[in-house]
Amino acid sequence: MTMTRRNLFSFLAAAGLSAKVPAASAAAPGTPAIEPLRLTDAQWRQRLDPQQYAVLRQEATERAGTSALNHEKRKGRYICAGCDLPLFESQHKFDSGTGWPSFHTPIAGALGTKTDFKLLLPRTEYHCARCEGHQGHVFDDGPRPTGKRYCNNGVALKFVPEAA
Ligand SMILES: [Zn+2]
Repeated sequence: MTMTRRNLFSFLAAAGLSAKVPAASAAAPGTPAIEPLRLTDAQWRQRLDPQQYAVLRQEATERAGTSALNHEKRKGRYICAGCDLPLFESQHKFDSGTGWPSFHTPIAGALGTKTDFKLLLPRTEYHCARCEGHQGHVFDDGPRPTGKRYCNNGVALKFVPEAA
């Protein structure tokens, strides 16, 4: 059989179509891939206040007990102060007594982690999966069901109350 021009195009179209199928089915239904948000340092400085900038972009830690979110008890969502990605649900918040807003479970896929050695002992740093803004550190002394304690800087979060 000789490959005609028409056959070649339909072959390429079919190949293109079949090549797209695995990529489309790789993401689980209902969990669209998170588009990264990448801004320049100047854009971040413009977008964030100095405290937010220090925590989100330079991994500073706010002073314990300074966040109003420590006392936030309403139903709602905690979103990244850098890019508004929802990170935690209010029902997963608990009072850790540490002076930082604490959660035992993040929203699936919302956080990335890395190991840091700032205090010599390794700690697991976590950050927003969209803008990579630093949020806090996660420890293994949390309550059930996960046993995790996501110790979060309040200035790195914004609280959005659930509509009544
Ligand atoms: Zn973010």
